[in-house]
Amino acid sequence: LANRAFHPEDSIIDVDGVKVGGDHLALIAGPCSVESKEQVIAIAKEAKAAGANMLRGGAFKPRTSPYAFQGMGTEGLDILVAAKKETGLPIVSELMSADYIEEFNEKVDLVQIGARNMQNFDLLKEVGKRCTKPVLLKRGLSATYEEWIMSAEYIMASGNPNVILCERGVRTYEIYTRNTLDLQAIPVIKRLTHLPIIIDPSHAGGKWWLVEPMAKAAVAAGCDGLMIEVHNDPEHALCDGPQSLKPAKYTELLKQVGAIGEIV
Ligand code: PEP
Ligand code: MN
Repeated sequence: LANRAFHPEDSIIDVDGVKVGGDHLALIAGPCSVESKEQVIAIAKEAKAAGANMLRGGAFKPRTSPYAFQGMGTEGLDILVAAKKETGLPIVSELMSADYIEEFNEKVDLVQIGARNMQNFDLLKEVGKRCTKPVLLKRGLSATYEEWIMSAEYIMASGNPNVILCERGVRTYEIYTRNTLDLQAIPVIKRLTHLPIIIDPSHAGGKWWLVEPMAKAAVAAGCDGLMIEVHNDPEHALCDGPQSLKPAKYTELLKQVGAIGEIV
């Protein structure tokens, strides 16, 4: 179903009125985790002023350590809904369990499946069957293109055709950076499938100063959007502070990106 051979035109996916794919760049910004209402609303306003067209924030967090902050859960989703009321930005948030699909259908506009759940096939099938919103499927930590596309097939074959792919870096022998951004994924995915592909340079590099050059490279290579972690106080972030941009840096980044690919 994802195969370009049977669907030659690019798919354009509508996320609560924001188009992703074709000539439309998704500009998703926001904190790794929802930490408080004040935090999310302040970041959402600055991200919107910079030019972002969607707000991200994790309420359910897939942390490597069970002792790390696990997210605010339902309360976090309600804060995102409040931020959408203030700014109009559609909400992107990660779903980890099929138990919450109906709640996400109500509160979230683009449902993220994280790298660690890319091959959670039961979750993918349930999202295909029951999720009424478009899905952002991140690439698994060490997934091949074929494995990643097959995970998209699980969602599509189960009934949800609205899948956007997200490259977020893969594991290599290099440990100086958190992951290695695979820019080749952009032309490869576009050749093999008709689905939009966006790039997450934040989780790829793991360092804030790598975000801007990799975002520019991704837009130059033809990606359909950028998902970038933005935090107003990265030093005190509960998750992923070192890779988060302050709003002023994000504003600067979008100016530079606008010079490479037109922001529509
Ligand atoms: C995230 O987007 O906050 C996240 C946890 O990403 P990934 O699943 O790519 O690690
Ligand atoms: Mn993160």
